[in-house]
Amino acid sequence: MSVIASSASTDTGRRRRRNEDAFVCEPPLFAVADGMGGAQAGEVASRLAADSVREAKLGDLPSPEQTVEIIREANRRVYAYSSENASTRGMGTTMTVALVEGSVVTIGHVGDSRAYLLREDQLTQLTQDHSLVAELVRSGRLSPKEAESHPRRSVITRALGTESDVEVDVFSIRAQNGDLFLLCSDGLTSMVSDEEIAKLLVAARADLDSAGEKLVAAANQAGGEDNITVVLFELEAGEPETEEEPDQKLDVAKTLTEADAVPALKLATQSSRGHRPRRATLIALAFVFLLALVGLGVFTVSTAHFIGAEPDGRVAVYQGLPFDLPGGVHLYRPVRVSARLYAAQLTLSERRRYFNNDLHSYGDTTRELSRLEGAVYP
Ligand code: CA
Repeated sequence: MSVIASSASTDTGRRRRRNEDAFVCEPPLFAVADGMGGAQAGEVASRLAADSVREAKLGDLPSPEQTVEIIREANRRVYAYSSENASTRGMGTTMTVALVEGSVVTIGHVGDSRAYLLREDQLTQLTQDHSLVAELVRSGRLSPKEAESHPRRSVITRALGTESDVEVDVFSIRAQNGDLFLLCSDGLTSMVSDEEIAKLLVAARADLDSAGEKLVAAANQAGGEDNITVVLFELEAGEPETEEEPDQKLDVAKTLTEADAVPALKLATQSSRGHRPRRATLIALAFVFLLALVGLGVFTVSTAHFIGAEPDGRVAVYQGLPFDLPGGVHLYRPVRVSARLYAAQLTLSERRRYFNNDLHSYGDTTRELSRLEGAVYP
């Protein structure tokens, strides 16, 4: 199997002044990046990330690991740049990468750009959006219809370059003869329905350049509210397979139904991540904690409050200290749980600001919670 044709098209669209999308179309590597940030920062982020992908040295790693490493390196570059340049602080970008190796196509993904596969005239979305509305729809709290008009539909819950490391979705697909892959930014998918995309691709696939242009034109005709980027590549049984195929092939269906971790729930899940301290250390820590507690007195515990999220994702105010003792003993308890505000409804910067476990008074934390509720449900 080999890539027999590929094409890339990008357009500023009709509403934006600048094009903050970037792409890579260099078989066997393909990528789309959609930048975000103030001033020109979005452009900087997507370009840095695309350059990083383009310069990636394909080594001996199996495709999934290789793909994740390519995206993590891009993340490091964007993050390092924004850490050093005040004007681009907080910039980020989506990143959807496809790496073709023999008949296996590996997709790595962060954000709300998408990868699709057109197989036997059927279009399938391969990636899950890391966006607020997609998470709410997946958890059943929002209908797909409501999602279309949700005021925070452009909020993405995972981006490249905003943290020192990034969690990457990765999966592999065994390609079939004639498979056509599409990577695109949300400037296409927010303007043109999947049915329309499928129809256009089926009709125009004989010439991928013109197929790409037609998709861009369709997005512009529908309003062109955002930058539009389309990368297409087609696989055909060509030269016989010589290399061994990676055996890391993941179950696509499984990968796609996996619930995405909501970063804001860190408080609740923190303890299950990372290294598990030894039991003796835990007991010693618990003892120190208990001593500290006695020392500080019940006074501190009863006056300290912080904002966090319940296991079901609802934002809450907790009284106590943000620690868990071994054996599932919490040093905190919820004193106010929001009826309808979920952690996934907050923007990245709001989460950073409020889920930092800083201690405040009851009045301050509940006021902040009410303010957040007011911002999401005006
Ligand atoms: Ca966009």
